[in-house]
Amino acid sequence: LRDVDEPVDESELAIEGALRPSSLAEFVGQQKVRGQLQLLLDAARLQQRPADHILLSGPPGLGKTTLAMIVAHESERPLRLSSGPAIQHAGDLAALLSSLTPGEVLFIDEIHRMARSAEEMLYLAMEDFRIDIMVGKGAGATSIPLDLAPFTLVGATTRSGLLPNPLRDRFGFTAHLEYYEPFELERVIERSAARLGVEMPPAARAEIARRSRGTPRIANRLLRRVRDYALVHGDGDAADEAIVDAALDLYDVDALGLDRLDRAVLDAVVRRFRGGPVGLGTLSVAVGEESDTIESVVEPYLVRIGFLGRTPRGRVATPEAYGHLGVPHDNSVLG
Ligand code: ADP
Repeated sequence: LRDVDEPVDESELAIEGALRPSSLAEFVGQQKVRGQLQLLLDAARLQQRPADHILLSGPPGLGKTTLAMIVAHESERPLRLSSGPAIQHAGDLAALLSSLTPGEVLFIDEIHRMARSAEEMLYLAMEDFRIDIMVGKGAGATSIPLDLAPFTLVGATTRSGLLPNPLRDRFGFTAHLEYYEPFELERVIERSAARLGVEMPPAARAEIARRSRGTPRIANRLLRRVRDYALVHGDGDAADEAIVDAALDLYDVDALGLDRLDRAVLDAVVRRFRGGPVGLGTLSVAVGEESDTIESVVEPYLVRIGFLGRTPRGRVATPEAYGHLGVPHDNSVLG
């Protein structure tokens, strides 16, 4: 899955890492999930055992990887990072699992993209900390059981609906991360601005928060672009509302924080398909983007802000979407 908001170069990744909160107390928002995780970790600590397996779902950039790191950090266990696409054979998973040290936290991002054969191996590993390794082929094939060190699996997915039930059922705790409210993003930005040494009045932070699509990763990224703008066009490390506006306009972030792809999708539904309903596949061809990205990155936010509706016959645009694009809702005037 291509994350449209993924920072591309290494230095950006390094900055993203530096801005990650390392404890639950520093993690902004998601209050319910934080409380639940805290209890899970406290109970495991009291019993001196690894925490139950954790499944985190939600759109990219909402803090799934960060939470996995926090789980490891707070339980003072090492963390191993992997991802579904990297596990294309049961053997890949067997190698990974058998190399874990006792109590290690294993993070598998995009766990819904793991190979089927590996999924089955994972069931047993999660439940009994054991795997069966097949050796040989055909009639001579035998399976050799292998005991594993107990571990905590933290799985992340943008599409929990794609996980087979037996896998989902083996997580002791499942949480869905929601988009953040602007006041929560303001806190993320305040914290990051302090770390980056950018001075900003509250109104400027609020403006970035409003235009961050409910997503901390985007808030941090926009903040970095604002900082760049202040360096080049302003007076160094101070950014006011005018600087924020100018920087975000330059990067085509509109007043609601919709980016180019969000607008392309809205525009296609409204103009090309006359408000819909339009099927996901058709929409994906129309905007030249993978349907997976549209379904797990673009749509959830457009649905959340009330611009797009899902019907059994496809996606429909709401009057608010027309309003945002400046298209009259009575679209009979369109050719
Ligand atoms: P995901 O794994 O869901 O795609 P990440 O955990 O990589 O998202 O988070 C993306 C960035 O957003 C990280 O750099 C992190 O600093 C920041 N971030 C995410 N959630 C929070 C939060 N609740 N509080 C503060 N920063 C956050």
